[in-house]
Amino acid sequence: MNTYARLPVSFVRGEGAWLWDGAGKRYLDALAGIAVSGLGHAHPKLVRAIAEQAAKVIHTSNLYEIDRQRELADRLCALAGMDEVFFCSSGSEANEAAIKLARLYGHHRGVQNAAIVVMERAWHGRTLATLSATGNRKAQAGFEPLVPGFVRVPYNDEGAVRQAAEANPDITAVLVEVLQGEGGINVAELEYVRFLRRLCDERKWLLMIDEVQSGIGRTGRWFAYQHAGIRPDVITLAKGLGSGVPIGACVAAGRARGVFKPGTHGSTFGGGPLACAAGLATLAAMEEERLLDNAARMGELIRAGLRDALAGVAGVTEIRGLGLMIGVELDRPCGDLVTRALEAGLLINVTADQVVRLLPPLVIGEREARALVDGLAPLIRQFLAS
Ligand code: PLP
Repeated sequence: MNTYARLPVSFVRGEGAWLWDGAGKRYLDALAGIAVSGLGHAHPKLVRAIAEQAAKVIHTSNLYEIDRQRELADRLCALAGMDEVFFCSSGSEANEAAIKLARLYGHHRGVQNAAIVVMERAWHGRTLATLSATGNRKAQAGFEPLVPGFVRVPYNDEGAVRQAAEANPDITAVLVEVLQGEGGINVAELEYVRFLRRLCDERKWLLMIDEVQSGIGRTGRWFAYQHAGIRPDVITLAKGLGSGVPIGACVAAGRARGVFKPGTHGSTFGGGPLACAAGLATLAAMEEERLLDNAARMGELIRAGLRDALAGVAGVTEIRGLGLMIGVELDRPCGDLVTRALEAGLLINVTADQVVRLLPPLVIGEREARALVDGLAPLIRQFLAS
C-alpha cells in the first residue's frame, strides 16, 4: 500500500555509520534506521550471532521454553534494575502491552475504567490504542473513534498532572517519554521525571516510561530514565534492542510485577530465538565497545560543533538533546533539508515540521561526527538563506 512518501534511494550495503546505494554513492547515516541500527551496519558480532542462531533454530513459539529469551530477559532486568519482561516485535506492541498492563492493574484495584495520563506531542505508535495515546492530531485524524482511557496533559508541567489526578479518580498510570523523539526531541526536565515518580508513589499509579527510541544506550545511559536516578514501574523497548531484527519488550518492576499471568497477554513472534540472539549480541557488543560512553561523547561533540557552526545564524531556534538523540529546531518548516542532505550524501530526518533530527549509530567515530557537523551546518545555513 502507498503508506510511505519514500525518498528516491535504495541502499544495497552498509558498514558502520555508512551506507551505499546501487550506483556506489556513499552516505553518512545520521539516522540509523530511525534509532534502530545502534551498532551501525553489518556489525560482525551481530552478523555472526544472527547467522549462528539461524543455523540452529529460528522459531519455536512461546508454547515452549526459549533459552535465548530467558537470557535476554535476565540481561535487560539487570541493566534496567527491573524484574520481568514480556517480549513482542515492535514499539507499538510494547506500548500496547504496557497499556493493557495498566488497565489490568487498575481492574485488580477495583477501577473499572482505568485511565492513563499521556503527554501532548507524545509518540507511542500507530496501533489504535497507542495512536490514541499519541499526542499528534495529524496522525490520529480519520481514525476516530479513538480508544478511550487517556488523559492528556502538557509535557513538563507538574501542575497539569496534579490537576488531572484531582479530577480523575480512575487514573492508574502515567505513560511518558523522557525525551520525546517524534515530537521534536523535547527533553523532560529531570526534576519533572522525579516528580512523576513521587506522584505515582503517592497515588499508587504505575510510572511507565516509553524508551522505544531513547533506550538501549542512545542517550549515553542504557535507558534515559537513568539520567533522573529513578526506577519506573514499566519501561517499553524496541528499535535499538535488536539492531534491525524486530523485537519489542515491556519490562515491569515493583507494583507492575506479576500483573500479567499465563493467558492474559501473548505474541506468536515475541521473544523468538533469532530476535533474542540479536538482542543479546547487541547488548554484548555495546558493553565490549563502550558504546554508552561513545554515545555521550559523540553527542556532546556534535551538539557543540553545530552550536559553533550555527552561532548567530538567524532562524536556528535551539540545538538540544541527550547523547545521540539530537534536535536542531529552526523557526520554519524544513522538510526540504532531508532531500538536500540526501543529495549531499547525508541521511537525516525532520520531525515536528521544523526540527532536524539526528540519530546516528552509537558506533559513530570522531571523524564521522565531525563530517556530520561539517556537512549539515552549511546545508542549514543555505536553507535558511534561501
Ligand atoms: N514509542 C516511541 C517513543 C517511538 O519513537 C516509536 C516509533 O517511532 C514507537 C513507540 C512505535 O514503535 P514502532 O514503530 O516499532 O511500532
